Amino acid sequence: MSEVLQLLSDVPPLRDLSTAELENLIRSSDVRIASPEGVVVRKGRSWPRIGIVLAGELEVVATDDGDSRSRVSLLEPGDMFGQPPSGKQSASEVEVLAVTESVYLMIPWYTWEEMIGSRDGSSEALASVCVTLDAPDRTRGRAQARAAAGADRYGLGLSSSRPAKILVINCGSSSLKYNFYDTHDRSNDREGIVERIGIEGGRLVHRPGDGTKVIRELGRINHDVAFEAVVEVLTDSEMGVIRDLSDITGVGHRVVHGGSKYSDPVVIDDDVVSEIERLCSLAPLHNPHNLAAIRKSMALMPQVPQVAVFDTGFHQRMPAHAYMYALPYSFYEQQGIRRYGFHGISHNYLALRAASCLERDVADLRIITCHLGNGSSVSAVDRGRSVDTSMGLTPLEGLVMGTRSGDIDPGAMLHMARTNDMGFEELDSLLNRKSGVLGLSGISNDFREIEDGARQGNRLALLALHVFCHRLRKYIGAYIAVMGGLDVMVFSAGIGERSPWVRSLTCQGLSELGIELEDRVNRYGYAGGDEVIDLSSKKSRVKVLAMQTDEGRMIARETIRALDR
Ligand code: AMP
Repeated sequence: MSEVLQLLSDVPPLRDLSTAELENLIRSSDVRIASPEGVVVRKGRSWPRIGIVLAGELEVVATDDGDSRSRVSLLEPGDMFGQPPSGKQSASEVEVLAVTESVYLMIPWYTWEEMIGSRDGSSEALASVCVTLDAPDRTRGRAQARAAAGADRYGLGLSSSRPAKILVINCGSSSLKYNFYDTHDRSNDREGIVERIGIEGGRLVHRPGDGTKVIRELGRINHDVAFEAVVEVLTDSEMGVIRDLSDITGVGHRVVHGGSKYSDPVVIDDDVVSEIERLCSLAPLHNPHNLAAIRKSMALMPQVPQVAVFDTGFHQRMPAHAYMYALPYSFYEQQGIRRYGFHGISHNYLALRAASCLERDVADLRIITCHLGNGSSVSAVDRGRSVDTSMGLTPLEGLVMGTRSGDIDPGAMLHMARTNDMGFEELDSLLNRKSGVLGLSGISNDFREIEDGARQGNRLALLALHVFCHRLRKYIGAYIAVMGGLDVMVFSAGIGERSPWVRSLTCQGLSELGIELEDRVNRYGYAGGDEVIDLSSKKSRVKVLAMQTDEGRMIARETIRALDR
């Protein structure tokens, strides 16, 4: 209940209501649940109510007589829709449908009039945020404001209405990466990493923004000292960018596992900390370190809001048929055994960046995003929503990776356990650390070395390269089937950005599916910095792009959005 009250108290026309008044409003209204694709408002019917999305996503869809449909707005928690009281009862000219399982509050007109309508400024506040259904061309609301933002329509440039200084923290087992963004003065943007935490030779590598590197040797350090070293360099009298920590508007933390609970970033409070702690069982190698950084950050900056951005979050809107394993249902219900997917921050960024570059609305595009790095995964992003992804309960499922096997017949595990007498630890180490292109080639987990080996005629290196690309090609075909077509494909991360060989081998034979590369651009184009390269030939129906991913920027964007909300 308190989360609902919090959300409602942020909705502009309700801002002046006391908690008791909000509770009264909820009691006098209906709370409804809509299943994915369920109809909330039918075209042609009058809907004399005000709706407020409490959870999930609804879409406002315009249809014409020829059955062609286009999305007018996407409504997220806090967004309002309906037909504001105007004295006349007109038919809705659009449909409102649920994109995901959604919860919304339905306030009858007369309740609205009685409880809110008479307050000063309430009708202006309502008009400024409510998506109206009787005249879609007048449709307003935050969703439209987002689309109207033009070139930076998805806020990836971090253009914020209020100047913000955002610190992004990505804390792993032996490293702590940081980014600092000053939305008012981009020359203050900084980034760096503290490496070798917990072992000898810990050091901070700071990039002051002029192309140089500053290295500070720190000796043997723990995560707390690593965080303090970051604070020191950001507040340094010579190269610092803030006077003290109170200058920071918000801290965004990458958190690997948000379970089924978190699809969106959240402002961290004690409950969120406990939940992330509870989820450590699903990500024992990651969440504890994320949590250590969150606790240190909260202790150092008690008055600065901290936001958790989950790597699993983007995939939490996958439909159940994509995330369920065909195991007895009780394993899902009692232990949360299901597919969660990872690299969500990157896949979301790549889809939005691709749409921005093509000057298209992501809501009109079917995109496959290939994040190919040390860990690799691929996602089907259907009109902005991840509908399937290759990683599962853990980051082991899916593509072949540097040292991870990716998909494998679970029967092979049983067979190896039985015939080789292999225990849990051995299997874990085999699948996570000794397999992938390293295991197949026997050379390395580094793709540059695999490619060098293959060029020099090493048979197993060539085989590893082919297995990697074949697996990826299978996923691409599958995701085209899942989405019923494809408009854009994106290659990213170390291998995707830089390996023409992997890209051309993967796309070989896909011309029937509309994918064709321009060989010269694929071979010589370099997706460095902000550059997005279009690899597709003139004949290619699908746009094939290569670009760098930018998880730090995406976390900062999500942090700003969470704070704005
Ligand atoms: P990431 O995890 O995004 O840093 O990507 C790391 C992977 O990218 C490693 O397997 C590298 O070998 C690979 N990589 C980096 N540069 C190249 C390149 N020029 N060609 C092929 N693979 C590369």
